[in-house]
Amino acid sequence: MSAPAQSSSSGPGGGVPLDGDAAGAAATASPAGRDRSGRRPGNVVFRLLERDERVFAFLLAVVMVGGLATVGLAPVRPRFRIDVYSLVLWFGAYKTCILALVTVNPRATRHIFSGALAVDLLLVFALLYLTGGGDSPYVNLFFPLVAVNAYYFGRSAGLLLTVIAGLSYWAAGQLAPPEAAWTAVVILMGQVGLPAVALGHVADRERRARAEVERLNAELRETLTRLQAAQQELVVAERMATVGKLALRIAHEVRNPIAAIELNAEILGDIVGARPDAEMAEAAGLVKAIREQVVALDALTEEWLAFARFPRPQFEEDSINEMVAAVVEFVRPLATRQGIGVHLSTDPAVPPMAIDRALLRQAILNLVKNALEALSQGGALTVTTTRSSDTVEIAVSDTGAGIPPEVGRRLFEQFFTTKPQGTGLGLSITRQIVEEHGGQIHWSSTPGAGATFTASLPIKRTERP
Ligand code: ADP
Ligand code: MG
Repeated sequence: MSAPAQSSSSGPGGGVPLDGDAAGAAATASPAGRDRSGRRPGNVVFRLLERDERVFAFLLAVVMVGGLATVGLAPVRPRFRIDVYSLVLWFGAYKTCILALVTVNPRATRHIFSGALAVDLLLVFALLYLTGGGDSPYVNLFFPLVAVNAYYFGRSAGLLLTVIAGLSYWAAGQLAPPEAAWTAVVILMGQVGLPAVALGHVADRERRARAEVERLNAELRETLTRLQAAQQELVVAERMATVGKLALRIAHEVRNPIAAIELNAEILGDIVGARPDAEMAEAAGLVKAIREQVVALDALTEEWLAFARFPRPQFEEDSINEMVAAVVEFVRPLATRQGIGVHLSTDPAVPPMAIDRALLRQAILNLVKNALEALSQGGALTVTTTRSSDTVEIAVSDTGAGIPPEVGRRLFEQFFTTKPQGTGLGLSITRQIVEEHGGQIHWSSTPGAGATFTASLPIKRTERP
């Protein structure tokens, strides 16, 4: 017969219904497992029955062999007499084989039980046929057979087996009269079917409950795994935070010595420059190189510190145009010395806005610095402000080499730089500041013809939580 839909969900190990018995057996077995002296021989049996399917096979064997033996006590007419003694023996041996089979090959349990069920049904039918058809006492064997199998295979299987039992009884009566009265067939089906369906129902419910417990268990295990992963991440994050603090401390600590070196190098430069001889000219070159390196180091630590202790912006009404003009005037002398043209164009329509002037200045200065660095071969730097309906745009353009696509993809990545002395933090800081102002940063570039970075800021900033 085919496995019913309800029971197929629990797979071959669907011996769920006997859970209670199995648990009982297991509970009795565990202390026995510790007691290796084997004082109680019953323990071996308990240990063998720890698995549900074995319990089922064992119980079905007990019920069927017991039923056969008991029914065998009933007197039958002499011409129907069979050798009950050897029948019980052979049947017991056959059931032991089934038990052994599911022990050796637990995966095929469901197939083995289906096969055994078919054999049992045939056997009862044969007994009915041989021992008086409609009159045979062996019809009683249907009770344990259908009930226990309904418990294992589920409610629908119970119903199907009830019908098969009724038909077998009726057919056996037809083949070997006396016939079974239709009332007898109906009574048999009622008395076999009702407990079978009830047992199947309980089994199905238990099976669902177990599936639910298993699902919850799997969920719990998954959550636990995630929790462990999160814990590990936390440990790493904590360590990284410590490393970050240490780096900040170092950056902070080296600033004073750097300032002192810078000052001393400047004084030394003055002393050396005051002496006109040729050897001193070489010394002056060396001092200049030292000062350049020190300045680079200073800029590096400054950017690190700006990144590390990014402050909460303090917004105040201020003029963006003025701030941008100040930045441009700040870099103009240096740019002019390098032969770079500097152009500023501010839109008078840009209104005073709530900005953190110091932070925004740093953001624009970072863009301007990048532009100047891109213009090492000369060219022009243009800074413009424009107002559209509800945003103000600050654009910084250069006529440098532009940005190749592979660099463009990683521009805002922290620590991404293509410069030997770069920190790779400038654009990341700029974006953070612009976003703190509720704005966005865009860029465009024509390789070979320069790049433009545009920060667009909303005039009415919406408060961020
Ligand atoms: P850094 O300037 O320290 O390298 P940034 O975050 O400021 O770090 O810039 C990252 C990279 O983006 C630079 O190394 C450079 O390759 C590229 N870049 C930024 N601005 C420009 C620009 N105006 N022209 C060409 N490349 C640029
Ligand atoms: Mg930079």
